[in-house]
Amino acid sequence: MIGLIAATSAGRSAAVELAGALGGCTLYQEDTVAASVARAWAECEQLVCFLATGATVRLIAPLLADKHGDPGVVCVDEARHFAVSLVGGHDGGANRLAERVAEALDAQPVLTTATDAVGLPGLDTLGLHVEGELAAVSRALLDGAPVRLVSDAVHPLPALPPNLTPDAPSEAPVVVISDRIDEAAGPATVTLRPRSLIVGVGASRGAPAEEVLGLVEAALADAGLSRHSVSYLATVDAKADEPGLLAAAAALGVDLVAHPAEALAAVAVPNPSPAPQAAVGTPSVAEAAALLGGGELLVPKRKSAPEGRAAMATVAVVRKSPRGRLALVGLGPGARDLLTPRAREELRRASVIVGLDQYVDQIRDLLRPGTRIEATGLGAEEERARSAVRLAEQGHAVALIGSGDAGVYAMASPALAEAGPDIDVVGVPGVTAALAASSLLGAPLGHDHVSISLSDLHTPWEVIERRVRAAAEADLVVTFYNPRSRGRDWQLPKALSLLAEHRRPDTPVGVAHAISRADEWHTVTTLAELDVTTVDMTTVVVVGNTASRTVAGRMVTPRGYRWQS
Ligand code: SAH
Repeated sequence: MIGLIAATSAGRSAAVELAGALGGCTLYQEDTVAASVARAWAECEQLVCFLATGATVRLIAPLLADKHGDPGVVCVDEARHFAVSLVGGHDGGANRLAERVAEALDAQPVLTTATDAVGLPGLDTLGLHVEGELAAVSRALLDGAPVRLVSDAVHPLPALPPNLTPDAPSEAPVVVISDRIDEAAGPATVTLRPRSLIVGVGASRGAPAEEVLGLVEAALADAGLSRHSVSYLATVDAKADEPGLLAAAAALGVDLVAHPAEALAAVAVPNPSPAPQAAVGTPSVAEAAALLGGGELLVPKRKSAPEGRAAMATVAVVRKSPRGRLALVGLGPGARDLLTPRAREELRRASVIVGLDQYVDQIRDLLRPGTRIEATGLGAEEERARSAVRLAEQGHAVALIGSGDAGVYAMASPALAEAGPDIDVVGVPGVTAALAASSLLGAPLGHDHVSISLSDLHTPWEVIERRVRAAAEADLVVTFYNPRSRGRDWQLPKALSLLAEHRRPDTPVGVAHAISRADEWHTVTTLAELDVTTVDMTTVVVVGNTASRTVAGRMVTPRGYRWQS
């Protein structure tokens, strides 16, 4: 919950407005502002104070404990010019909150944490457990000093600063990304723990939590592995509620994941045994549960060794390779304000951008320093898609970019035709040309509509023609993509003549060129009067249905429930 504190009527009205925009907010109105702050501090994850920073500092000073647990605090000035992230920038989420508040109140976010200010991801914002000398190493990174990267795998992280490299000199500070506890350290070292380990566990009924936890910890320690790299504990369905397993998982701060016995029985393991087969229906629990999704068995089945009685727990540890991440990001028709905030975030989440050079140029300034760019020229679609998938398979965080929506006559299909289940795929919708055109032209898509690409480079013309005829007969509004180029000039007139067989000559036709770019223009004309020579490859042509009308120069297709023909 976000606690709001205001002392003036302007502050209170800004608070009410903010609560409406963000949701999940409570306005605290105790007898004094100090009491409101104290109560909000105790009850909320984040605070927005419509107070001067000085007043806020004095009020929260006695409450501050540590930066990992304290609420994030944002201050907004009386005139709503600024949303200042005051404390808890990273862990408390105050930097993110300041940006959201600024957007809601049309203010300027003010972030002073060094890493955010210069566009580098803070080492403590990567979602990995952090150990070591964070402040010293972050300072070196910000100063642009060489910092050595020691990583045992490719991880799907955002772009790391260019001065963080494997070949920095040996006396440089070090960032280690590893699940191993003995990785080489430098004079100042930060270690980031990827969640790379799956710990399979088996237990007899009533196995004590200490026995399970002790076994897991001993297995990890003996193999030189960090407990902070454990992703989850895995077991068999029948043990999903076993208190000792649940308690061990809770102590490690992870989930207990249970799999059906049949699934475990199908996993090939080095140490099967008849006992679990009889008890729960699979010859292996610990090894099979750990190995279920593949990976490398680092610790084969091992039993607990309690004094004076039989072992009640087994464990096995598997390392999974990091799953790469492929984001399919539509950039919209061109203008920066038609790029969605989510697309912008994905561009900064990626360490590799794959796309046509003209699209890369469109968003280059948004990328984090150190982002690798794989730009290619026109025509290399398949190759581009393959290379994006290959990079994700290697473990990178990749953004494959395209104009409009990445799934509409674009790269998402060739990429996903290549992609297997071993990578994470994230689609980010973009404003496709048909929608951008529709808003310019009026409301042409108010009833059933279809998009047809007139490019016969990859689709035989007969197929295109059949679809145009069908759309004509079905009285659908049609948006033509790829309508006309220098080498393909007869297809558009042909398609329009097919539509004209079923529509009046005065059917409205909208033409939208270079939407949201410097040379944008659009016009609403008719089937009879359209001058096709004005149409090129950066144009879409929208042809109305038999009910479409031109009203005050705008194209309108009635929604149909009060049909007038
Ligand atoms: N993925 C894109 C479409 C790619 S096909 C999208 O969703 O918009 C390329 C065709 O899209 C162009 O030939 C043109 O018809 C249309 N197009 C793309 N951007 C455009 C823009 N800014 N203005 C007008 N048409 C555009």
